[in-house]
Amino acid sequence: MLCSLPLPPRQQKKEWAGKLDRLPTRSRLASWGLQIDTCCCVCNNYHETRDHIFLRCAYAEQIWKIVIRRLGYRPILFHTWEAFLTWIGLKVSHCPSTLRKVTAQAVIYRLWRERNNRLHNGIQTPPEVSFKEIDRQVRNVILARKHRHTFQNLMSIWLTYE
Ligand SMILES: [Zn+2]
Repeated sequence: MLCSLPLPPRQQKKEWAGKLDRLPTRSRLASWGLQIDTCCCVCNNYHETRDHIFLRCAYAEQIWKIVIRRLGYRPILFHTWEAFLTWIGLKVSHCPSTLRKVTAQAVIYRLWRERNNRLHNGIQTPPEVSFKEIDRQVRNVILARKHRHTFQNLMSIWLTYE
């Protein structure tokens, strides 16, 4: 579902964020009155919310740690969804916003798949292996759009800190 989302330029950012708001996380299902366990099935320590799965879960933090380094940043942890969206949109010279958007989508898609794989199939993937999938997806997206102005040079930037 998430992988088919268009890239979120400014006017679509809200829509993209809105779709993530509507993901059927366990806390969200419970808020509709369903009697379900709201515990995160990835870490088994916290309530499963959007912010937890994608930003604060220990598993997500490990993935972000690898991704952030790969984008040439010093370590950052996102404590709120707003901070995360702000980071995506910031203008910095070494890393174009487009690359952060592409990467963020790949990370979010992979984290949601990890959650579903654990919940439905009992399959766990180590963060390093998940990152390889993220890396592959980022490369594919960049290659598929390499003729677009905003995608030029993204591959060389993505490979800089490999
Ligand atoms: Zn968790």
